[in-house]
Amino acid sequence: MAKRSMSDEEPFNEPIEDDDEAGTAGPARHAAAVIGVLGAGTMGAGIAQLAARSGARSLLHDPVGEALAGGLERARDGLRKEAAKGRLSEKQAQAAGERLQAVDALDGLAPCELVIEAAPERLDLKHELYRRLSKIVSEECVLASNTSSLLVTAIAAAASHPERVVGMHFFNPAPVMRLLEVVAGEQSSQRALALARDTGEAMGKTVIAASDGPGFLVNRCNRPFGLEALRVLQERLADVETIDRICRMEGGFRMGPFELMDLVGVDIGLEISKSFFEQSFGEPRWRPSPITARYVAAGLYGRKTGRGYYDYGGDADGSGSHDAKPAGQHRPADPDPLDAAPPGHGEGVVVIAGEGVLANELRAAAADAGYEVRSPHDPTGGVLPALIVDCDRSPSNRDRASEADYPERRVQPLPQGGAHVLLTAAGSLSVLDPGGSAVGFHVLAPLPDAHLVELTRGEGSSPVAAARAERFFAALGKHVAWVQDAPGLVLGRIVCQVINESAFALGEGVGRARDIDTGMVLGLNHPRGPLQWADAIGLDHVLMVLESLCEEYREERYRPAPALQRLVRAGRLGRSTGAGFFEYAIES
Ligand code: NAD
Repeated sequence: MAKRSMSDEEPFNEPIEDDDEAGTAGPARHAAAVIGVLGAGTMGAGIAQLAARSGARSLLHDPVGEALAGGLERARDGLRKEAAKGRLSEKQAQAAGERLQAVDALDGLAPCELVIEAAPERLDLKHELYRRLSKIVSEECVLASNTSSLLVTAIAAAASHPERVVGMHFFNPAPVMRLLEVVAGEQSSQRALALARDTGEAMGKTVIAASDGPGFLVNRCNRPFGLEALRVLQERLADVETIDRICRMEGGFRMGPFELMDLVGVDIGLEISKSFFEQSFGEPRWRPSPITARYVAAGLYGRKTGRGYYDYGGDADGSGSHDAKPAGQHRPADPDPLDAAPPGHGEGVVVIAGEGVLANELRAAAADAGYEVRSPHDPTGGVLPALIVDCDRSPSNRDRASEADYPERRVQPLPQGGAHVLLTAAGSLSVLDPGGSAVGFHVLAPLPDAHLVELTRGEGSSPVAAARAERFFAALGKHVAWVQDAPGLVLGRIVCQVINESAFALGEGVGRARDIDTGMVLGLNHPRGPLQWADAIGLDHVLMVLESLCEEYREERYRPAPALQRLVRAGRLGRSTGAGFFEYAIES
């Protein structure tokens, strides 16, 4: 069996240069020696702390006296905490504290080589600041905005020498989160971008590069995590708690999309969606959800008002106490992962059809659980199988095309008379088995990491098939969640759209493959990078889910990204073929 090593990954379509790797916060080539931080709020205080610990003289300014004093104290306190945790020695923390200084007037930023602006997210306010700053600092001084939703290019328009303006997008809390996204505006110079990157590395950050546009790289690729979950809810595939539980237990996400939206603020989420939609002139993938608009109209903003998609025990009008319920008690705890059945527990014969990654993983897991695993070509010797698991079913009207393209994928006739469970990747259950007695299932590879499998049934689904499917997956150590029918069911649909968005961003040159993956893991705590995940699932499987969604919903929202289609056409299906978005060394 071929063994592949992740250490041998290479980026899609691009040579690796020695000095050009994301994830290596190596020695900086030229980090700024005097850094100004403008705005001493949530982000500014943390950035000032990072600037001081990078070895630079760090000048913090905020026009609001109280905010300035509070920000300076939080930055100093942060350095003390780092010393207490052993991340800095007492001596280093003290020296960094001495390099940190508050300045009362904007003029005080004159000696800076780099100014990082973390002022409120309003274009008019930022324009005014960049106009004034341009007259104070030297022409060489690089101006970096920590904006998360405005265009860097639009901010730069107010500065003299707009080529010195870049984005330095830190994540909250800035001293803790390892990622920094350096954003190139239309006119940003290589010199300005290099100084921002090198200074970020001197701060200990993993720096990724992005080009300007809605959400830059990381927040853009993550848009479908919330927006597709909202569509799934709107169509009543599952309720809020079930969708979140599926994302945690099947996908390995720390938080489900609705918990996350409550944490960020439903109102803020709606504003971000509106800004994406407007900036893209109506991209259907980024259409805001009417559910969010209703929640905002009702004042259900999430944790900060005590109620959003969950009830946190506060008042919805914002006047009540926040988080009145102890942390984490807004929802029931997830059940403990099941142990896979001890060998010999899985009873009888199962037939598993299909040649994809998931079919192979299911065969291995079923054999480990004690089932006798047969393929459709492998007669069962007259024994009726306990279950027929079909991972190869195509809708009848597509059979001919797929057979012509992929003769090896010709759908084999299955032994009749048994209980059937069909993989709902090439279509929803209602398309794959119209009016039939099968139940549907979906789960994303890698199967060993999933603690839950989704099942769906139609009007005609047989109760025997449902019961046997539950028993089969329990024997494999998986919980099940029953959801309504759709291609990819819940997680498949959400994750395939995240992968699709990432493939669009890649194809449009917003960022590189490994920067997308690094960014999603370090910036947003995703369990794995979306492109590496796609390679594990199989790009043909991902494309199949997207094509089925596109066909069944007839919506442009689900059109597959050209970069993904091209890879599949080229036979780069992911790890199983040795190459997908990344390349994998295959040892025979
Ligand atoms: P904040 O409201 O906590 O802090 C803003 C600070 O700017 C306040 O202290 C305020 O007194 C000060 N300020 C007001 N007018 C100013 C002016 N004219 N010049 C300089 N400072 C002024 O906001 P924040 O959350 O720190 O956000 C700041 C920036 O960082 C925004 O662009 C935001 O989009 C971005 N950002 C925020 C987060 C986050 O999670 N909070 C994450 C990434 C990026």
